[in-house]
Amino acid sequence: MPQIAENLAHVRARISRAETRFGRPPGSVELLAVTKTRRVEELRSAIEAGARRFGESYAQEALEKIEQLAPLEPEWHFIGPIQSNKTKSIAAHFDWVHSVDRFKVAQRLSEQRPAHLPPLNICLQVNTSGEATKAGVAPDALTELAAAADDLPRLALRGLMTIPAPNRDFDRQRLPFRRLREALERLRAHGLALDTLSMGMTADLEAAIAEGATMVRVGTGIFGPRPSPKG
Ligand SMILES: *Cc1c(COP(=O)(O)O)cnc(C)c1O
Repeated sequence: MPQIAENLAHVRARISRAETRFGRPPGSVELLAVTKTRRVEELRSAIEAGARRFGESYAQEALEKIEQLAPLEPEWHFIGPIQSNKTKSIAAHFDWVHSVDRFKVAQRLSEQRPAHLPPLNICLQVNTSGEATKAGVAPDALTELAAAADDLPRLALRGLMTIPAPNRDFDRQRLPFRRLREALERLRAHGLALDTLSMGMTADLEAAIAEGATMVRVGTGIFGPRPSPKG
């Protein structure tokens, strides 16, 4: 699928141009290829074109891909809403979880992380837009959740993630990303060793990089429009 390789090159070029433009060191922004609703063949094409980190939003859908692609050893990131009854399979099959937004889920992931695997990398999802419908911990509850999650033995708390409401205006796109960066800086000032800001998607990755993103999550920019209404 030459289109995927071409799109991937285009997204990489966008990332490196944004790094240059906003004074970020070259290579400081990692690309997570978001593959919810995509077929295994599409993921294979992306791997051939050099992708090695994949983001999935539905545990059930991901498991089959994880199994089929195991010989190629990609890194798997869970980025979707977490139902309590799915934590066990997420803890067993993923390397990262970006969407932890309550203590109960963090606790279950820690308890269910298999002993033979390294601690599960997690980000706390923060609601930076203040909309009642959006997932994520409220900013004023973040410090307490971060401290509690950081104490769990089988998790490695790495940073923060956000999914802002879509906005076409560049300066407005930057605002929630700036809030997330400032939240990360506050947690660091409390003594937490955090290195990850998971923010920015196809439509707003430049704004996220301008505000310090270390990982952008890109789906349609690599694989084209999503066929399913789920995403
Ligand atoms: C689907 C999804 C993305 C990718 O969105 P695109 O607009 O396709 O780049 C990123 N992050 C999360 C959490 C998603 O669910």
